[in-house]
Amino acid sequence: MRMSQLFNQTLREFPADATTPGNQFLQRAGYVREVASNVYVLNPLGNRSLQKIKNMIRQELNSLNGQEVNIPSLFSEEILAKRSVHSFVDVDMLDVSDSLSHQMYLSSTAHHYLADLLQQSIRSHRQLPRLLYQIQPRTLNGRQNRTGLLSARSVTRLETFFLDKDQTSATQHYQRLIQTFENILKCCTLPVSTVKFDYKQPKPQSGSEFFFLHPQGDTTLLYCESCGYLVNKASASVEKQPNKSEPLASLEKIHTPNTKTIEDLAKFLDIPASRTAKAVFMTATMIENCEKTEKVIMAIVRGDMDLNESKLARVINALAIRPSTNSEIQSIGAVPGFASPVGLKVALIVVDDLIPNSPNLVAGANETDFHFKHANYGRDFQANILADITEVETDAACPHCNQLLSVQSAFLVGKITSPDTLLASETGCNFQDESGELKPIFLGSAWLDLERILGGVAETRNDDYGLIWPISLTPYQVHLVVLPAKNTDQPQVFAENLYQELQRARIEVLFDDRKESPGVKFNDADLLGIPLRITVAEKSLSQGQVEFKIRDEKEKTNVPMEDVLPQSMHTLLRLEREIAQSLVK
Ligand SMILES: [Zn+2]
Repeated sequence: MRMSQLFNQTLREFPADATTPGNQFLQRAGYVREVASNVYVLNPLGNRSLQKIKNMIRQELNSLNGQEVNIPSLFSEEILAKRSVHSFVDVDMLDVSDSLSHQMYLSSTAHHYLADLLQQSIRSHRQLPRLLYQIQPRTLNGRQNRTGLLSARSVTRLETFFLDKDQTSATQHYQRLIQTFENILKCCTLPVSTVKFDYKQPKPQSGSEFFFLHPQGDTTLLYCESCGYLVNKASASVEKQPNKSEPLASLEKIHTPNTKTIEDLAKFLDIPASRTAKAVFMTATMIENCEKTEKVIMAIVRGDMDLNESKLARVINALAIRPSTNSEIQSIGAVPGFASPVGLKVALIVVDDLIPNSPNLVAGANETDFHFKHANYGRDFQANILADITEVETDAACPHCNQLLSVQSAFLVGKITSPDTLLASETGCNFQDESGELKPIFLGSAWLDLERILGGVAETRNDDYGLIWPISLTPYQVHLVVLPAKNTDQPQVFAENLYQELQRARIEVLFDDRKESPGVKFNDADLLGIPLRITVAEKSLSQGQVEFKIRDEKEKTNVPMEDVLPQSMHTLLRLEREIAQSLVK
């Protein structure tokens, strides 16, 4: 490609609101352009880099016998009704309607059609194992922070499903896929931490998440410097200290004026906060009877603990969750500040699993300025759901070595969920085993967010002058620069020939054939970050040489004119080999 013909040019100025260096350079170099808040267009250069990731993924997954499919993300209300029995929740699902005002949905995953597909396609053990994958554009909810492609709402996602006939084969498949994902990310040179997760509710689910650590990341991880333990705060749980056991006393209403907070209440009664029950009201968006509805949830945690909203959202299968307004709290018959699960019938009550082991708590009385003493779980109030819903404090101790945990911010780049038979048991996706018996299919799933990979690499690999692409993601392998000469067209003629010759050798070349000064051309080359720069100039050419410069190495080398092609190939091969050496075999 000639730079004179490139769709868009580099920008002189930094985009005003691009906060991180990688994001600034991606926009200045013309790889991407933000067209709405957190919505990015990938220009031809950015799109070429994205294609490189796609090709890499296809190559890796095809080598595992993966088969590419194309499952639509659009589905109807009927499909939602059929599938809402699943404990699976798509928090990125969007409401849309067609021109006849039919309610439709756009999902971020192919899960909604999966059961039908499996029922129609897989009948016999001879059809297992299978690995399906697809690479598709997705629109995501949320993502409020401003970190360029790392917080893009419109992304390209790899989604894979792996199907097996038994636990052993499924576990092997899962391990291979983790290694494959790690290799893809290494090949992209994105540093990630693989973090295990293990949820107990609403259904047991475990797996691995891949995090790119970054100070502006939207996920909080807890990290143990001493033993390296790393966990997503939203799924972390530590052992909770129960209150000492004691005989249950009878429920007693007490006058507690002006004690709207746990702090005021504990002070007024001169008791530790751990002897109180705290009611937190959250309004959740949920799917009920095939419709999106909002529901007020009462969450009860011990007074010395905080509610973890992500955990609560997960155990109730909520699409989204937010603090309730006072009028919403009143609408279910509760009194803000003095709310109580005791005697409250209408709300969905979720109680933290420490509460049953905490006897004789002080809880609200649903009456202004009154509380109950000796409120006891099981006797005075019940839960619709009993689960771990509390926040792990950031000064909690490591469950492995008891050292203090510290906090790290990160972006979730991908996830692999361990295979299980949950979908099969909910929807009857069975196959006939060797003896003709019907068995449930083991299904595991995984995804990778390609824009996050690209954005993360841009944040990791840059210097004061621009981007430094790895050979695996660069839009072009060689940046050919010809410097203007006053009295001869020899450099131009040589560069034109070289451009053709490199292309014939299937090397991807970006040829700066513009009539610009050397300064502008070199600055743009640094900004674009293509790994190998070849400069053709009058002076060196008169000595029979051209200049080679690797983007992230300081030295320049002069290469004899006749060796340019073999030297280019040799250099590119060396850069490829350096990446290949980091991979797990
Ligand atoms: Zn530790």
